[in-house]
Amino acid sequence: MPLLADVAVPVPLSQAFTYEVPAALAGEVRPGARVLCEFHRRKLLGVVLAVSERSAAIDPSKIKPLAALVDARPALPAELLAFLQELAAYYFAPIGEVLRLALPAIEREQVRALKAQGELGGVLDLGRAKQVGGRKVAYASATDVVEEPGTLRGQAAAVLALLRANGEQPVARIEERFGNARSALKKLAERNLVALDEREPPRDPFFRRAEERDVPPELNAAQAEAAARIDAALAALAPSGGGEHPASTQKEPRPAGQEPRPAGQEPRPSAFLLFGVTGSGKTEVYLRAIKSCLDRGRGALVMVPEIALTPQLVARFRARFGDELAVLHSGLSDADRHAMWASLHVGKVRVAIGARSALFAPVPDLGLILVDEEHDGSFKQEEGVRYHARDMALLRAHRAGAVCVLGSATPSIESVALVRRGKLAELRLPDRAHREASLPEVSLVDLRRFRAGPSGDPLISLPLHRALEKTLAAKEQAILFLNRRGFAPSVVCGSCGTLTTCDACSVALTYHRGRRRDPRPPSPAGAPAPPAPLDERPEGGRLRCHYCDYAGPLPDRCGACGARNLLLEGLGTERLEATIAGSFPEARVARLDRDVAGKDRSQAILARMREGKIDILVGTQMVTKGHDLPNVTLVGVVNADAALGLPDFRAAERGFQLLVQVAGRAGRRDRPGRVLIQTRNPEHPAIAFAAAHDVPGFLEREIREREEVGYPPATRLALLRIDAVDESVGRGAAAKLAAHARTCPEGAARRVEVLGPSAAPIARLRGRYRFRVLLRARDRGPLRGALAALTGLIRDGLDRNARVIIDVDPVAML
Ligand code: ADP
Ligand code: ZN
Repeated sequence: MPLLADVAVPVPLSQAFTYEVPAALAGEVRPGARVLCEFHRRKLLGVVLAVSERSAAIDPSKIKPLAALVDARPALPAELLAFLQELAAYYFAPIGEVLRLALPAIEREQVRALKAQGELGGVLDLGRAKQVGGRKVAYASATDVVEEPGTLRGQAAAVLALLRANGEQPVARIEERFGNARSALKKLAERNLVALDEREPPRDPFFRRAEERDVPPELNAAQAEAAARIDAALAALAPSGGGEHPASTQKEPRPAGQEPRPAGQEPRPSAFLLFGVTGSGKTEVYLRAIKSCLDRGRGALVMVPEIALTPQLVARFRARFGDELAVLHSGLSDADRHAMWASLHVGKVRVAIGARSALFAPVPDLGLILVDEEHDGSFKQEEGVRYHARDMALLRAHRAGAVCVLGSATPSIESVALVRRGKLAELRLPDRAHREASLPEVSLVDLRRFRAGPSGDPLISLPLHRALEKTLAAKEQAILFLNRRGFAPSVVCGSCGTLTTCDACSVALTYHRGRRRDPRPPSPAGAPAPPAPLDERPEGGRLRCHYCDYAGPLPDRCGACGARNLLLEGLGTERLEATIAGSFPEARVARLDRDVAGKDRSQAILARMREGKIDILVGTQMVTKGHDLPNVTLVGVVNADAALGLPDFRAAERGFQLLVQVAGRAGRRDRPGRVLIQTRNPEHPAIAFAAAHDVPGFLEREIREREEVGYPPATRLALLRIDAVDESVGRGAAAKLAAHARTCPEGAARRVEVLGPSAAPIARLRGRYRFRVLLRARDRGPLRGALAALTGLIRDGLDRNARVIIDVDPVAML
């Protein structure tokens, strides 16, 4: 019988393909290794899923031999490979696409070896795999040259817009988004619209300095209790396998916490929810847990929201574990990323910390996964394979026989539900860790009752203005949180009322004034500066779409009625910064949001804040996450209502989390903190419970609410996202899917409820009309049944111009 290998290739098909293992490679081709194989006359890079001696299920003459072996040591360890297969099945995602999430770059050495074997002579597609080993990296940036209007089309226009909006980018990153990036860039460079540059990749900022080792503080009682329970769970783990674990058997994939339990056997908890108020010292508990895990000879994985992956946090881990730590983040060069990957893969380093994608790190002998700020939305990937890194952390830990700890001050409703069902054990840290620190006093400012303060802007109320004055007088720091980037969130015609919207998306365009050298008009020395008149339309201001890459000039007249009467409406962080700077001329004001924050810029701003060189920091969500800024005593939430009105069943939960998290930035040391929440809706539960620091109360209410309306965690959802350039094509495909879902066995038996088809809340995005069909069920099984019944139709029963994405456990509902 021939030796056959099942190989997953990077094409959007869910099944693996069978190849014959040539005699010369027998014994060397192992699961998890990359191979070159012929696929429709192209050579592709694939991953071996299984090898066995058996008779082929298909015509043996059609089975081709593997062309070459790429990895002598399988790139994906058995534990990781099994997990990835389960993840693919859970999300109905093509296995080839899922594997790509975890595969490292190809080393130049490997490419050279293949070339020597003559394998790279003909057609070769390395499956978009990156290659590392070279030194120089190419960067592209927009120049100051302006094109003739209308002379750029397609990807060239899109690439240029991207560079203008986001600044310099590595060419490799542009290529990830645009198939024709190379030729587009060439075209743009020829016309001097874009400058190309080759240089050394930056060294990873997290490793510039050696970190001094710290002395672990003595734990308080609650921390000690939590650490002890995690330690007991680690002690109860099966002894380390010392390398490759036998892969778990493939069964119907289940989310973590849904395991059938052998009757009469109470398992020890191996998954925890660490529920600790902001500043309660959760990180110290993580550090102890990792230590205990390493002492038992196993590796650990720490996941944090991208935004929380600051040098400050990494420094705390490095101070404890030194170079035993691999830091994985989106700013890494390919070479650095590969170096980190390789040191984990060979077991030289046993702790990895990173954002969402660190879920796929080849941590050796995985014994512990920590998910910090587990409620954070950034753990859900919203493009490509739409996985949720928190849910999958539970799954991976479970399958690897590892302990999992989810930590948060504002746990997600999903995690709280798992606690109630006994799937997660709860650990509580009820108080702030610094003995003198207490939770800040929160007051609500009802915007319906309070006038504008001296700045004249109704969103900077008199109480907020006074509180800022007091903070400045005491030489303390303030944070102002506003969830809108840009200068003015909308541009409206003062004559006919028409809102300026994006041509490609059904959303309003935001006016961005752009960077200016001096945000403050000079004021005569000594004289108290009057509220500065703002030059609202300086050169270089642009309208931007926050959903696609569109950026264009502010027109001088209304597109609908032609009146020269366009008004900049609403308040964004850019305008807030300028207004505050004008009203408090003696204060040092800075802004932190995606527009100012390049990779290193946000770190620099936070560092200046920590050093006391900024008095008032204005910003978006970026100011709410995890920062430990001891001198911040005032937090102002400029407009708490903005997040609460969205058509999304999680809007209240998300608004609540934001409020509690941003409030948690105040008063973290001896000086008491104060929080002002401005709202027109002070009775809204998200606001009222946040003001009372009553997280359990909010969770209780929200869980009941979800029960009543039948949304997760009371039910399970899958969202079919349909889009097409042609509206009727999209609508037709959505209708067909909904009809099929209603008549499939699970739908017909009403075990799965089908909602829709309907237009998405954002009905048009990037030039495509969007529709959706929502599937809802009490249990996971029927939902999977219905999705399985739809896959055939999605593959080849619909108009080819309609795109369908299955989003299991959707998070973004817009
Ligand atoms: P969280 O992650 O829960 O928001 P942190 O871990 O950032 O909280 O801790 C808040 C502050 O308390 C940090 O400055 C930390 O160094 C300090 N801290 C944590 N545990 C202790 C302890 N047992 N004794 C003294 N200080 C502590
Ligand atoms: Zn747009």
